[in-house]
Amino acid sequence: MTFSAIVVAAGAGSRAGGNKQWRSLGGKPVLRWSVEALLEAGADVVVVTAPGAGDQAVQALAGLTGWRAVDGGETRADSVRNGLSALTGSADQVVMIHDAARPMLSRAVIDRLLTALQTADGAMPALPVADTLKRGADGAITETVERADLWRAQTPQAFRLDRLLAAWSRWPSNETPTDDASVVERDGGRVALVEGEARLMKLTFPEDFQMAEALIAAGARTQTRVGMGFDAHRWGPGSSVWLCGVEIPHDQTLIGHSDADAGLHALTDAVLGAIGQGDIGDHFPPTDPQWKGASSDLFLEHAAKLVGERGGRLVHVDVTLICERPKVKPHREAMRARLAEILSLPLDAVSVKATTTEAMGFTGRGEGLAAQAIATVELPG
Ligand code: MG
Repeated sequence: MTFSAIVVAAGAGSRAGGNKQWRSLGGKPVLRWSVEALLEAGADVVVVTAPGAGDQAVQALAGLTGWRAVDGGETRADSVRNGLSALTGSADQVVMIHDAARPMLSRAVIDRLLTALQTADGAMPALPVADTLKRGADGAITETVERADLWRAQTPQAFRLDRLLAAWSRWPSNETPTDDASVVERDGGRVALVEGEARLMKLTFPEDFQMAEALIAAGARTQTRVGMGFDAHRWGPGSSVWLCGVEIPHDQTLIGHSDADAGLHALTDAVLGAIGQGDIGDHFPPTDPQWKGASSDLFLEHAAKLVGERGGRLVHVDVTLICERPKVKPHREAMRARLAEILSLPLDAVSVKATTTEAMGFTGRGEGLAAQAIATVELPG
C-alpha cells in the first residue's frame, strides 16, 4: 500500500534540552530513525521543520530519497496542516502523522496501522496504562482515577486522508487540537486503537535519551556463531534411504539405530555445535530404545528448539552429502524444502549439496555415506 507520512520536527524540545530531533541517537540523528522506517515501509515522507531549518533536515537525512521538507507553523497543529497542504497524492490515500521525537518506529506498528485503516477512519498506536493514576492538587491526592479504559497515545497516527481533511474543514478555528486523532474523533470518525510499543517512547526528558541509547545498544548486540557437524553410516540391505528428511528409493539403505539419516544427523550436530550443546548422542543416546528407528526430524527440531530457548535464531544451514550413489540432485529441492520446513527458514537460507569422492575411500568404495553440515546462528550478545 502506498501512503504519505508527515514527520513533525518543528518543535523546540526545550524539556529534553535543545533541539532533540537533530541530536545523535545510536549514531544517527533522531529524525533520521523514523524517516528511514517510513521510507522503508514505502511512504512518501514530508518532514516539517521550524522555518529555516530545512538545511538541517538535508544534513540529517543525507543520502535518503523520497522525502521533502516544508516549513512548520506556530503550533504543532499548524505544522501538521502545512504538511498536509504539501501532500501531492490523491485524496483517497492514507497519511500517517508522526512526531520526530519518537525515533524507534517499527515496521510492525506501521503494518498494524495500515491494517486497521481498512475498517476505520483513523488509527493510533497506544499502550495500556500500567501505573495507578492519581489526580492531585497542592502536593496531595484529590482523586484516584479509574485507569481500566485509559490508553497512552503514541504516534504515528494514521488516517484516511479525505476523512482527515474533511474533519479539519469543520474544526473550530479558535481551538487547537491536542493531537490529530482528536480532530477526527470530534467529527464523529472512528479512530481504532492498535497495539503500540514501549520502544516507541517519546524523547521528552534528558534521561529518555539514555534509556533509548540503552535499548538500541541491547538490540544491536548479537553474536554470530557457526557450528559444524559430520556423520557417516554404513550401507546395508534395503529398498530406500532417508537423506535430509526425504525418503529416496534405492537398492540399499543406511544402517543405524534411528533412521540413519546422516544428513540430518550432521546438521543436528552443527546446530548443537553453534550453541555449545554437545552432540546428538548426548541428547538422544543410541543406547536408549525409544530412539530405535526414530525419524531424525525429531533430533533436528530439538536442536533448533534449543537455539530458540537460548534467545537465538538460526540464520542459515548448508549440508554436503558425500556418496557415489544414489544420485542426490533429483531430490535436492525436496530436501531443501523439508529442511526449511523443519527449521522454519526461508528456502534461500537452506543449502543441500552433494559430491562423490571419485571412487576413493569408504564412500568411494560404496561402503557408506558421509555428510557434512554447517549452521549459522545469531545469539543475543
Ligand atoms: Mg548418525
